[in-house]
Amino acid sequence: MIVSRSGAIAPGLHVVGPAEVPVFLLDGDRPALVDAGFACLADTYVNDIQKILNGRQPAYALITHSHFDHLGAVSWLKKAFPQMAICGSPGIDRVMARSGAVDVMRMLSDAARQTIAAEGVDMDHAPVFEPFALDRPLAGGDRISLSDGMDVVVYETPGHTRDCLSYYIPATRTLLASEAAGIPDATGYVFIDFLVDYDIYMDSLQKLSCLDVDVLCFGHGYVYTGDDAAAYFPNAMACAEAFYERTKQCLKEEGGDIESVKQRLKAFEYDGKPEPKQPEPAYLLNLAARILAVQRREAALEEGGKS
Ligand SMILES: [Zn+2]
Repeated sequence: MIVSRSGAIAPGLHVVGPAEVPVFLLDGDRPALVDAGFACLADTYVNDIQKILNGRQPAYALITHSHFDHLGAVSWLKKAFPQMAICGSPGIDRVMARSGAVDVMRMLSDAARQTIAAEGVDMDHAPVFEPFALDRPLAGGDRISLSDGMDVVVYETPGHTRDCLSYYIPATRTLLASEAAGIPDATGYVFIDFLVDYDIYMDSLQKLSCLDVDVLCFGHGYVYTGDDAAAYFPNAMACAEAFYERTKQCLKEEGGDIESVKQRLKAFEYDGKPEPKQPEPAYLLNLAARILAVQRREAALEEGGKS
């Protein structure tokens, strides 16, 4: 089944906030949040979490990676739930220590607030992005106990960012992989955002594809269950390989002109596609990074071929 809504999705799994920018709540004796969405939606997340937990507090916030739309509200969630431990890759602390990176997160968070305000939602007193520090750095293989017999296992899955972590619950065969798994659109096409490096990304995708998954939670928009979850990874890998080949071909035909390649790829995978989809400025920013990753890899292969 393909689900694109908030609320209870599977036993012990809730999508909190809008499905496009979700916080996932894994309930148990020690509940965990996965990701923290937009800063400006912090009050929505807090209210919904309070309703579900009914006086209990989340024990953990598990962050997938250091992008503003995945950790935006974490400092506000921590204020609402002071016992909650903020957990993620140590790379997140390094990003938070860079004032330039924090400025970019503030800027992108403010743009998101303005977009939501333009839709008629009152955002005048909405929370703004605040940096934070991890309470517990995580590494691949770490286990976080939600209840007896219900652990979250941490996987290191870099490639979208260097600090991407994915979270897998063997007891329920649930995988929360954020953009390490790619993001499907309404037509089933999968956006593969290998912002750091194509090969590193594909290794991570391969690693995730080996897991036995019945509930697959994406960073934006969708949860796939059952047969749809099982069929997802082969399709995602095919989409990644096809996108790589298309980009390589466009680079060749356009003589390496990134702007022309961008327009051609955008026409192929973004224009005319149904909503919900990534906002255009974010899409274009990521698209440029993906094209450069292909160009770098091709140049390295050519260099290797000469020697
Ligand atoms: Zn991201």
